[in-house]
Amino acid sequence: MTLIIDPALPQWKGNLHCHTTLSDGLLPPREAAALYQAAGYDFLAITDHRRVTDPAEAETDLLLIPGIELDYRVMGRHMQAVHILGIGVDGRLMDEPQVMADPQQGIDLIRSHGGLAIFAHPAWSLSTPETIEALRGISAAEIYNHVSDAPWNAPRGDSSLILDECFADGCLLPVVAGDDAHHYNGDQCHSAVIVCAEACTREGILSALAQGHVYASQGPRITDMCLEDGVLSLSCSPCRQIVFYSNMFYGRGRVLTGADMTRAAYRVQPAETFVRVEIMDEQGLRAWSSPVRL
Ligand SMILES: [Zn+2]
Ligand SMILES: [Zn+2]
Repeated sequence: MTLIIDPALPQWKGNLHCHTTLSDGLLPPREAAALYQAAGYDFLAITDHRRVTDPAEAETDLLLIPGIELDYRVMGRHMQAVHILGIGVDGRLMDEPQVMADPQQGIDLIRSHGGLAIFAHPAWSLSTPETIEALRGISAAEIYNHVSDAPWNAPRGDSSLILDECFADGCLLPVVAGDDAHHYNGDQCHSAVIVCAEACTREGILSALAQGHVYASQGPRITDMCLEDGVLSLSCSPCRQIVFYSNMFYGRGRVLTGADMTRAAYRVQPAETFVRVEIMDEQGLRAWSSPVRL
């Protein structure tokens, strides 16, 4: 049996993407952190543009992980705004002359400064699978980015289609969701990365993220998930829809609907190379598992 979400591990709710008055956000770090703390988040990374925020700047007792967002223009089939989050980086990253040269150099420098790199909002960026797959050293990708939805942007918050193409190509990145809060008029405290870790410490969260022990959520929880004898099964908070996505097109039993479903199972088909689960509750809020390699 392969345990994908271990029911014995505590789950911690965090947001790894938001902006403050230290770049183009509308609240200072202290007020942004206070909102997330009041909303029940366990940890937060402030990811201002091209600037590492030191946890001390937010004067909070919420676990704050240092963060930054780096931005690049990449010319592929078309212009793409590739943004990379650096989570857990030290402030000396900003002194590196090559950090804004191109995304691969940015990722390499994030890692050499103790951080993890997350590919932000692929759909908003019009990023292609080719661009994502060519990068080395990415630890996760945002399958959902809240501010990329309306009313703040022409809605491209959901990046699951682009990531499914990556997964079908064998590039199986763990997934997170982030608010990317700027305005604090409803773009905050909505989306989360759920991290399964022994302890909610900086080291515990970063280590679990590096190992892919994460999923993305707007509220619903996946409490248990395992693969055994060709069957992927899960337990979750009450949902009205559970969908199993893979690299294949047709197939039975991929979409389950009903009231207050808390368990589901899916028999993997021989041609499937990955499977992932998306669940939706009564309010239409979703959670996305990371892809499972078959
Ligand atoms: Zn961005
Ligand atoms: Zn951002």
